[in-house]
Amino acid sequence: MRVEELPVDERVKKVVLERGIEELYPPQAEALKSGVLKGRNLVLAIPTASGKTLVSEIVMVNKLLREGGKAVYLVPLKALAEEKYREFKEWEKLGLRVAATTGDYDSTDEWLGRYDIIVATAEKFDSLLRHGARWIDEVKLVVADEVHLIGSYDRGATLEMILTHMLGKAQILALSATVGNAEELAEWLDAALVMSDWRPVQLRKGIFHLGTLVWEDGKVERYPENWYSLVTDAVKRGKGALVFVNTRRSAEKEALALSKLVSGYLTKPEKRALERLASELEDNPTSEKLKRALKGGVAFHHAGLSRAERTLIEDAFREGLIKVITATPTLSAGVNLPSFRVIIRDTKRYSNFGWVDIPVLEIQQMMGRAGRPRYDKFGEAIIVARTEEPGKLMERYIRGRPEKLFSMLANEQAFRSQVLALITNFGVSSFRELISFLERTFYAHQRKDLSSLEYKAKEVVYFLIENEFVDLDLEDNFMPLPFGKRTSQLYIDPLTAKKFRDTFPAIERNPNPFGIFQLIASTPDMATLTARRREMEDYLDLAYELEGELYASIPYYEDSRFQGFLGQVKTAKVLLDWINEVPEARIYETYSIDPGDLYRILELADWLMYSLIELYRLFEPKAEVLQYLRDLHLRLRHGVREELLELVKLPNIGRKRARALYNAGFRSQEDIMRAKVKDLLEVEGIGIKVVEGLFRYFGVEMPGEIKGATKRSGRKKRGTLDAFLK
Ligand code: ADP
Repeated sequence: MRVEELPVDERVKKVVLERGIEELYPPQAEALKSGVLKGRNLVLAIPTASGKTLVSEIVMVNKLLREGGKAVYLVPLKALAEEKYREFKEWEKLGLRVAATTGDYDSTDEWLGRYDIIVATAEKFDSLLRHGARWIDEVKLVVADEVHLIGSYDRGATLEMILTHMLGKAQILALSATVGNAEELAEWLDAALVMSDWRPVQLRKGIFHLGTLVWEDGKVERYPENWYSLVTDAVKRGKGALVFVNTRRSAEKEALALSKLVSGYLTKPEKRALERLASELEDNPTSEKLKRALKGGVAFHHAGLSRAERTLIEDAFREGLIKVITATPTLSAGVNLPSFRVIIRDTKRYSNFGWVDIPVLEIQQMMGRAGRPRYDKFGEAIIVARTEEPGKLMERYIRGRPEKLFSMLANEQAFRSQVLALITNFGVSSFRELISFLERTFYAHQRKDLSSLEYKAKEVVYFLIENEFVDLDLEDNFMPLPFGKRTSQLYIDPLTAKKFRDTFPAIERNPNPFGIFQLIASTPDMATLTARRREMEDYLDLAYELEGELYASIPYYEDSRFQGFLGQVKTAKVLLDWINEVPEARIYETYSIDPGDLYRILELADWLMYSLIELYRLFEPKAEVLQYLRDLHLRLRHGVREELLELVKLPNIGRKRARALYNAGFRSQEDIMRAKVKDLLEVEGIGIKVVEGLFRYFGVEMPGEIKGATKRSGRKKRGTLDAFLK
């Protein structure tokens, strides 16, 4: 189908044509003929990179131009929200406004009311629903990207509940990878179904075993025995390769090994460009390894890297400067990063239950990364048989069908939180109403029988009543209590809230960071570090040493909570180091964690600390304790000792600059206002840009002669910030 022929607003066609797209891919055409342009719900289950985004853009923009209202585009990851936001920005030339929202779960974000297309993570949108943002009523269309995540253990329930809430209120467009039961999903959503294996670039799939590569069609190729030869072969042909492995350490190890082999194929200018790229990375143990790998044109990619590092790698791979990426499967979900050849080294991974097979759905998503549209005539996806029989792998992953999706609503933690939200935020006022809501879920559609969920719901309701989240009136109607309502808005597990509340008296008696951090680390909402075997004794010693500061008792060795507890102590110690200004690099080294881990821990701890304070405010807080908690929260947010709290409030002053200023004698905002510009510029890390920022913050114009001055010439200038304030 030609874009010209589309029955949509002329302006939409114009923008699509301007992108150089004149012809729709067959599944796109089918999707747009399904009734979705007339308001019908649609499940679109097609492989990655076959143009789902374009379909959703056409549907969204056409609808908004014709009917007004808002469209919400749901993504599973923050990084994806940014990617989509940048893509959709283009539609602003038609007068539509695009926004993205991901963080801060305790807000109605009324500012979003001014926007037409809102990109949000599922969790963020769920929290917006709970806060009852006014603009939600204007949402006419919800696009759920990667809707197969309904089957994911920890994320699925959120997505399922959002869709249940919006079903019937807004049109739904669900975008999915190929799954085993797309029909079932479509039935639930009362949607048309478009399913296809069509891909814009042809995909060849094969199994590699000790030098023999057998393609799907039976053709055989010979290589040297080690699978590294698959990588070097691709590079030799001027192409790239993406290697999937099952752990971060393997990704690093293989990157370093491959780097040595690949470096021989690099040109001199490429080597220089790679050196430059490496020099952009900061210094820490993980990036040291990354730098070494980069020298040979290889990088690793995993959740331990910082956002900046990941973006840097992704961009350089797209440009062809980095030839090979070794990655954990986090890369296969989301980020658009195709490669001529995809090599899958592992088909098993370690889980709580030991080694398990990676689902077909996930392996197929990895394979789907093969072949770059416009550059490659076809892509190649190769599974390396290391521990499994090649024939079996062929049957399971290449000829086999992906798994069915199963509702994860019954996941205890998610369910507890969702039931609370239904009662406190969505006006569900009796058990009967609760059940009739649950009858509209995918769970109910799939199981037909609600009895076990009903039983679970009863248990949760008892728990909520017993712990004063909810009360019952004389007619057995639910009455939300402030504690319940606030817990739900804060987007934390009721169990976390209960733990906090139970500990308030102890905190009041002895407020201290270690105790509070261990408490935070012990909640189900925290991603806690694990204490390794060789570390266990150290953390146990530490716990005994600081026993007086803990609010929990130290479990016995035989206790099933013992190991978890040591992990909490470790996590608390990391946070303690952070607020005591231990340099990041030392933290990574001491605890063997990566920058991405520290970032995640800090992000979660920040949100839980905020929640703890918000809940404490409900229970006749003591002013001095509240102030203590607020200061600790700020210290956690900035990673500083108390004495720097005043300085980190200034723009562009983080923990390092604040410490440098303080040590140079600038101990308060007033000190800085009075300072001579030249003296400020003497301080490590303080350049003219930062000083300009300070001027702006204090509300004064930067004097002309200093504007644009370099650090050295700046030194000659006289004058103080204070002087300019007068
Ligand atoms: P998906 O969302 O299914 O993973 P995308 O929508 O990101 O895939 O599409 C992948 C690439 O294909 C994008 O660069 C997009 O611009 C391009 N594309 C989409 N539809 C067409 C088309 N009909 N013709 C040419 N290129 C297209």
